[in-house]
Amino acid sequence: MKKLFFLFSFVSLIKAQDAYQYNVDLVNLENKRVKVELIPPTFNSDTITYCFPAVVPGTYEKYDFGRFIQDLKVVPKKNANVFLKKIDENCYKIYPSKDIDKIVYYVTDTWHTSIKEKIVFEPAGTSILPDSVFVINNFGFYGYFRNYDNKPIYINYTKPKGFYPATAITTFTLSETKDVLQYKNYHELADFPVIYSIPDTTTLNIHNTKVLISCYSPNKKLTSQYISSLLQNLLYALTNFFEGQLPVNKYAFLFYFTDKGTLSGASGALEHNQSSLYVLPEIDSIYISQTIRDVAAHEFLHILTPLTIHSEEIEYFDFNYPKMSKHLWLYEGTTEYHAHYLQEKEGLISPDEFLNVILEKIHNADGFNDTMSFTKMSENVLLPYYHQNYNNVYEKGALIGMCLDILLLKESKGTYSLRKLLLDLSKKYGASKPFKDDALFDEIEQMTYPSIGLFLRRYVEGTKPLPLSEIFSYVGLKFIKEKEIEEITFGGIDVSVNENEQIYITSLDNIDEFGKQFKFKEGDIIYSFNNRLFTLESAEEILSEFSTTAKVGDPVVFEVIRKDKKGNNQTVKLKGKVKKVKRVIKNTIDIDENMSEEQKFLLKKWLTNE
Ligand SMILES: [Zn+2]
Repeated sequence: MKKLFFLFSFVSLIKAQDAYQYNVDLVNLENKRVKVELIPPTFNSDTITYCFPAVVPGTYEKYDFGRFIQDLKVVPKKNANVFLKKIDENCYKIYPSKDIDKIVYYVTDTWHTSIKEKIVFEPAGTSILPDSVFVINNFGFYGYFRNYDNKPIYINYTKPKGFYPATAITTFTLSETKDVLQYKNYHELADFPVIYSIPDTTTLNIHNTKVLISCYSPNKKLTSQYISSLLQNLLYALTNFFEGQLPVNKYAFLFYFTDKGTLSGASGALEHNQSSLYVLPEIDSIYISQTIRDVAAHEFLHILTPLTIHSEEIEYFDFNYPKMSKHLWLYEGTTEYHAHYLQEKEGLISPDEFLNVILEKIHNADGFNDTMSFTKMSENVLLPYYHQNYNNVYEKGALIGMCLDILLLKESKGTYSLRKLLLDLSKKYGASKPFKDDALFDEIEQMTYPSIGLFLRRYVEGTKPLPLSEIFSYVGLKFIKEKEIEEITFGGIDVSVNENEQIYITSLDNIDEFGKQFKFKEGDIIYSFNNRLFTLESAEEILSEFSTTAKVGDPVVFEVIRKDKKGNNQTVKLKGKVKKVKRVIKNTIDIDENMSEEQKFLLKKWLTNE
């Protein structure tokens, strides 16, 4: 209580100073719209521009938050007139600034909007559900005056009883129906999202870091307690990643689980300096626990890139006319790689599970343009042509991270890694010391080896596909892009189960050479296979026995139930012989049985904690 009192007096003191004063009413809503009033700071120019962001940090898409603001008007001081003109989707020109008493507008949310263009990824958006929960990404609720984005901001909330703002900001005062949240400036405001609801929170103390886990789960399928049990080991693993000490004193994981699906069709999270906001499906906890860990690791690691290591484009972020950096491979790619790798390294997942994640990324990357320069794509990511390849930052971007990690291990004989490079970069640069976009590759080359510079120029800036076979070979793994195999199949028929729990053929679209000889028809019910009744209970055993024991040329008999012309069921015997079917399989990783000592050593360095 003492602390709160202290904060309150502190807030009151600053209040008298020059600041934005926002008054927000979360109780009396008008048609699911939240009314906002702004008493502006003082200005030293006559004409001012008030804007809502077009783009926000951590997203690589133009969202134009001004689209969700309605009925904005300026209330002039007594006996004065103020001119207001909307100049684009997000910004308003206002003059004379000295005559503004306040600005009033209504916020509609992005999660339930009827605007179907440029749908906002939900973790970057806003949700207004009166009396139950408000997701407030502040840039979707509040604007800023251009050239006055460094003034302090106070948000005075009137809230439903019992509601609590889950957020990482610590400068606030709370009471039963009114809260005041205070921010140093607009950049800080944008960096601290809030979820207002009846709280379910758990706090963890990881060494010197206080971690808040807040959970909104409408049907209570997930709880903050359960999530904290998932994240505890991960946070200790992250502590090791950061060499013994997490990089922040306070961090908030803000989880929102939805039972309705999302407008964007996606789920995920957005990172901030001391928090991350998650929007995930509300499903049974067992099915989502690994996803929670993967996404939480990814968002937390963003503290390193881009929140600490970043270029000037990000440091001096312009919410309305942003310049994008060339280095999404670094910000998203290495983050995604480490999110999985650190879990393997610390024993939270097995090496096999980790390599399966890598294989999935190789497979997914095949769906993108592999010869588009990654730096060019990053720099132009707001343009539709390049944006189509944006999601490859989580696939190929992560693979770039893996290649660099293995290459660094090889060059340094196991003593240096991508993790160490990033930690060194974070010491060299830092949250308020950006690097120059064009100088980064030279810088990294100087800190490491010529081959690293060559790799970055050839495969990240250049247009050559990643040399995966070569990189995997350094750690004694054989990567094969495509190989043809011959195998015993069940004919390539697609099946389903009918209301009598019988297995029947739904499609012959994928039928193979072995299957063709039986002349199946769509709708055939498979009654028996080689004289054994084929049922839901027996199918799995029959299939596995057949695929392991059958020999080419063995006779095969299917008995199917098929309707004759009159619509009566009849049993038909279909005969054929076992044949092997050729199939191309893509992207496989095998252990090289003849690994050299050096390969063995590097594999151990890469995938174990010794
Ligand atoms: Zn990310």
